[in-house]
Amino acid sequence: MSGLNQLFQHLLGRRGADAGCDDSLEVLDLFVEEELEGRRAADTFPAVAVHLESCPDCREDYEGLRELARSNGSAPRGISR
Ligand SMILES: [Zn+2]
Repeated sequence: MSGLNQLFQHLLGRRGADAGCDDSLEVLDLFVEEELEGRRAADTFPAVAVHLESCPDCREDYEGLRELARSNGSAPRGISR
């Protein structure tokens, strides 16, 4: 079984599961992108949405990314920290 496949199963598959900090940060820019394109990011990445509810640190990152993406147009790329 491929590790990457497992990661995606983990991230995409189980509603109600918490993705955890590392996995959430891994897809946070995709999550924000989904939202900005008007899709339901919480449906695409339910485990990340759950995590953001429960983790203030990741939520802060998420909100920062979202702000940046909004002020830069719709492409949250090339963000330096
Ligand atoms: Zn977290």
